[in-house]
Amino acid sequence: MIDHLVHERGLSREEAYILCSVAVDLKVSEIVDAPNWIVQNAANGAVSVVPRTVVQVQVAPISHLFETVPPGERMSFLMNHELVHAMTMDSAATRDRLFRTLFAGKVNPVAEQPESMLYFYLTTPRAAAPAWYLEGSATFFDTWMDGGIGRSQGGWDEMVFRSMVRDGARFYDPLGLAAEGAKIDFQQRTNAYLYGERFMSWLAYTYSPQQLVTWLARKPGTRAYYASEFQRVFGRSLESAWAGWVASEKTFQQANLAAIRAYPITPYRDLSSRALGSVSKSQALKTQL
Ligand SMILES: [Zn+2]
Repeated sequence: MIDHLVHERGLSREEAYILCSVAVDLKVSEIVDAPNWIVQNAANGAVSVVPRTVVQVQVAPISHLFETVPPGERMSFLMNHELVHAMTMDSAATRDRLFRTLFAGKVNPVAEQPESMLYFYLTTPRAAAPAWYLEGSATFFDTWMDGGIGRSQGGWDEMVFRSMVRDGARFYDPLGLAAEGAKIDFQQRTNAYLYGERFMSWLAYTYSPQQLVTWLARKPGTRAYYASEFQRVFGRSLESAWAGWVASEKTFQQANLAAIRAYPITPYRDLSSRALGSVSKSQALKTQL
């Protein structure tokens, strides 16, 4: 990200490092590998921080179908997004560094040795946070580091929740989202992005962007567990704030729906009597598509 900020944004290396450091207390402890994949003709990115920090970037153009992902320039979007993942998951407080020394590095959890989950948590506690926390923060950052262009302000995510309010659909709570919400999700954790970025945006709007960043950063004096740190920073439980966001989202979307209903919609003709588009596996089996 530092190289990217230098070459693309004209910042000096010192300024770029300061920007990253101020945001989430980035202290580079190792070289971040960023190999380019040439095996897939799609834009994508992925990060892992255990046992080493690796950013994978696939540089083909991004699909703008349905405007589900509306970034500006794709390399800027991908590097911002993926390096935020690297920072939120890899940033370490004193205790984490101690365990990294003790265990000779960051510990990868393996199924055959369940106790490795504990060692994983002790060396990288924020990498163990749920997907909505990781994707919500990355999406929030990549939107605002690109000047407000991204999913946090995109039409698609807002439309999803407007549709849910219109249909009276159930909103997952954090636990339900991490369990059932992830299980039925067949599109690469889409629910994690949707819920995560709406909740993070609400937090920034209701409290402040600074408080949001404080919660996400793993600095000295912070709590390792993301929900405990939430309580410390916001003075309320994560579940209570989540319920506050859901109530606010419903009020906001009811007003949007009322504004839409105030005027007739553009006439249209159905191309098919059946809804097409994305369907989940269970839905597909149920309707025998
Ligand atoms: Zn991501």
